[in-house]
Amino acid sequence: MRTIATFGADSKTVGPDTPTVVSIITPFLYPGLPASEQCSKGRAELLSISFRDFERKEREQFTDMFAASGFDGRRNIAGIILNRWGHHFIVAQPGFLFGKDGMPAPGDVLRKAPFGRIAFANTDLTGGSRHDVAMEEGERAVTQLLAAVQRLARLAVSLDHVEWGRKA
Ligand SMILES: Cc1cc2nc3c(=O)[nH]c(=O)nc-3n(C[C@H](O)[C@H](O)[C@H](O)COP(=O)(O)OP(=O)(O)OC[C@H]3O[C@@H](n4cnc5c(N)ncnc54)[C@H](O)[C@@H]3O)c2cc1C
Repeated sequence: MRTIATFGADSKTVGPDTPTVVSIITPFLYPGLPASEQCSKGRAELLSISFRDFERKEREQFTDMFAASGFDGRRNIAGIILNRWGHHFIVAQPGFLFGKDGMPAPGDVLRKAPFGRIAFANTDLTGGSRHDVAMEEGERAVTQLLAAVQRLARLAVSLDHVEWGRKA
């Protein structure tokens, strides 16, 4: 439930009678089916249900939940905004996050060190589908690259010394 911001000089009053915004997140789950199949089936359902059906279901659901307190979904919901985007979510197959058969997890291999000039920064490698994890991963990858550049710079300086030593 999104409450009205109450900071600043113009402090709004909030209460049970104040209009408010409620976010509803709808998971599409099909117990029994493999995870990858549930994902594509859920995406297809999310995109194919009409707005009218979504709206009817939401109003009915809220009426079922709160009718005992006098709530009427047809009267008390001013409007519904439907976003047909799934939350970022990885469907990790066995072994992806924790390794398998004595082998390390792919994410651990890809995050351990850069590959030449490339360092991978992506939350999918960690399993944590959140923006703070994205920032941590970005910082980790950049730190690794900077360390690699510094190592190369030190190597170049020492090679330079060897070269000068030969010339002398
Ligand atoms: C609808 C929605 C709501 C969300 N709400 C929240 C929230 O409230 N709080 C929260 O913490 N997190 C939230 N998230 C999750 C969060 O946004 C993600 O976990 C985060 O953005 C992932 O960051 P990332 O850098 O790993 O990947 P991404 O942000 O997906 O970045 C990957 C980038 O790589 C690019 N790319 C892909 N393939 C290629 C290619 N071949 N060549 C070049 N570029 C390529 C893509 O275009 C993209 O820009 C939400 C996500 C969604 C979708």
